[in-house]
Amino acid sequence: MSTLLEVSGVSVSFDGFKAINNLSFRIGQAEMRAVIGPNGAGKTTFMDIVTGKTRPDEGRVLWGERSQSLLGMSEAQIARAGIGRKFQKPTVFEDQSVHENLLMALKGRRGPWAVLFYRPAAADLARVDELAAEIGLADHLARKAGELSHGQKQWLEIGMLLAQEPRLLLVDEPAAGMTPAEREHTTAILVEAAKTRAVVVVEHDMEFVRRLSCKVTVLHEGAVLAEGSLDHVTADQRVIDVYLGR
Ligand code: ADP
Repeated sequence: MSTLLEVSGVSVSFDGFKAINNLSFRIGQAEMRAVIGPNGAGKTTFMDIVTGKTRPDEGRVLWGERSQSLLGMSEAQIARAGIGRKFQKPTVFEDQSVHENLLMALKGRRGPWAVLFYRPAAADLARVDELAAEIGLADHLARKAGELSHGQKQWLEIGMLLAQEPRLLLVDEPAAGMTPAEREHTTAILVEAAKTRAVVVVEHDMEFVRRLSCKVTVLHEGAVLAEGSLDHVTADQRVIDVYLGR
């Protein structure tokens, strides 16, 4: 599998404390990866670095076939280059319908002026229907986002990110606060999304990670402690010690 994102030898300190310590991480095109690790392991800081929110002190972050450096690029430039990020809390436009939210995300893709002068083309309207079907909200297009359940809002936001056609989607704890049925649906959405793009899921819920059935990276003290299948990493004594706080 060819590499889409390569983080190599990255370190970042906050007030002398190394939150990320010589971290190397690589993800392939259309690969699903779960990133786990105890609180303070560096998972959020890792995503902040990839999305340009935090600038590392050292190391490289390379993107795409041409190994373009993401360092020095703004968050907006990185998003336009094809990296989408889903934060834990859903941020949808509550007083707009599901249809309008998805359409807005499609408009956004065409740049700031498009939002002002945009007239939806038939292709965009068709894409809204397609996205709504992908996230399981085809029967809810006319509903205001504010009326949706927590799980449905999360799916809508995933749909809005997919509208921007990222090549890499970073998702922070998508299953938090969801019912078992909602978790299952979330798994299905992410697995489907990962067929055509890379998806990195940061998650605490091991049952959810198991269902993703993908390679797992365990972070600890800002570096990779173990990598492999969930069964492989959870059988690793170092991982057990870290989770038990030894
Ligand atoms: P995780 O997401 O795995 O819980 P974080 O990336 O949030 O871990 O944090 C890694 C470490 O870096 C923690 O010890 C945290 O306290 C510290 N840290 C993160 N961001 C900052 C910041 N802006 N200033 C100071 N310390 C920070």
